[in-house]
Amino acid sequence: MNISIPDNVMTALEILGKNGYSAYAVGGCVRDSLLGNKPDDWDICTSALPEQTAECFADYRVIPTGVKHGTITVIIEKPLEITTFRIDGDYLDNRRPNEVLFTRKLEDDLCRRDFTVNAMALSASGEITDLYGGRKDLEAKLIRCVGCAETRFDEDALRIMRALRFASVLGFEIESETAKAIRLKKHLLRNIAAERIVKEFTKLLCGGCTEILREYADVIKIFLPLGDFAEDTLSFIKKSPADPLLKLSILLAKSTPEEAEKMLRELKYDNRTLKHVTLMLGTKKMALSNSIPQVKRLINRFGEEAVSVADFHLHTGKITPEIHKSITETIDGIIANGECCTLSKLAVKGSDIAALGIFPQNKIGKVLFSLLEKVMDGECENDKNSLIKLAENLNY
Ligand code: ATP
Ligand code: MG
Repeated sequence: MNISIPDNVMTALEILGKNGYSAYAVGGCVRDSLLGNKPDDWDICTSALPEQTAECFADYRVIPTGVKHGTITVIIEKPLEITTFRIDGDYLDNRRPNEVLFTRKLEDDLCRRDFTVNAMALSASGEITDLYGGRKDLEAKLIRCVGCAETRFDEDALRIMRALRFASVLGFEIESETAKAIRLKKHLLRNIAAERIVKEFTKLLCGGCTEILREYADVIKIFLPLGDFAEDTLSFIKKSPADPLLKLSILLAKSTPEEAEKMLRELKYDNRTLKHVTLMLGTKKMALSNSIPQVKRLINRFGEEAVSVADFHLHTGKITPEIHKSITETIDGIIANGECCTLSKLAVKGSDIAALGIFPQNKIGKVLFSLLEKVMDGECENDKNSLIKLAENLNY
């Protein structure tokens, strides 16, 4: 198979080559190209030391992104990461290596990589270096550790999450020795920073093969103390669009907002995610309807999140696709027409009601809200005279 290397990557490989260094595209871009997918980004590895790489690209903008780890970013049309061949030093605490050593040999750099399918390098001439049977595993759709799986997870337990992530995203099986080691070493995930776990877990959730959640539920439970996954939850996750907030809300749909908040805080999820998921879970008992007054109430309560609530209800099987379509179209129409669903759009204000002199101060808010409800129900025009007349007939 002929892989087409983008021009800017080719330029970088050629410049390094002309300067006497060896250089390859490596990792995910080789894997994805061989699968016939367009890589998101192209990583380059080279025998040049970071300073030498910088010298080679003196005519370009160079950003010293991670010089200590050997990485330099060069802007050729867009940012390209170029990393010196590395040997990882000792690992402590099942995490990142203690030190990195640079090496002149590609083989040293490939053997530290996590999985066979991620450990291939591609030269400017199109030649693939595949020392661990990566191509064979791509064909067999297998995620297999480079070297002894147990050792590799001892070194860096995040690789456990990466294995599950790639299995879900690529639709691959996990090879049996690697799978055995995952189960044996899963507790080591406790040593990994929550943010790093979450990054992989989000990709896993958004992947197409979420069966992996059921198969490796014991691993997921190490960081997410959920009960057993219900079959319907798993099939809802699988069928929903790849939106991380939606997927997470579906995953936690059987929990209370309080339980979900606790779990998400523990995993150091950002506030936006926390707010969104708990908001969705808080709507579980609502029965959504596509009637205009009900849709207006939805907008009143949830504002911009009204569509998300409808999506959540669709993808947890609580409303049909037809009702969902009708609700979201109605939301769009109401918003496009600027129809009144909020107190701020109501044609009377608190001061107008107070000026009538017939309601105690503490009832003004209630009066305003019942006027808003009449407008949303289509029983009263949103104009000041009609609303004042209506208010005069209210008893509070
Ligand atoms: P993606 O498409 O998600 O970017 P990727 O394979 O490029 O997939 P990255 O996380 O960008 O994944 O890592 C780039 C490469 O670095 C991997 O292909 C792999 O060779 C290596 N790598 C990344 N993380 C690890 C790790 N924890 N242990 C060993 N090798 C790793
Ligand atoms: Mg990548």
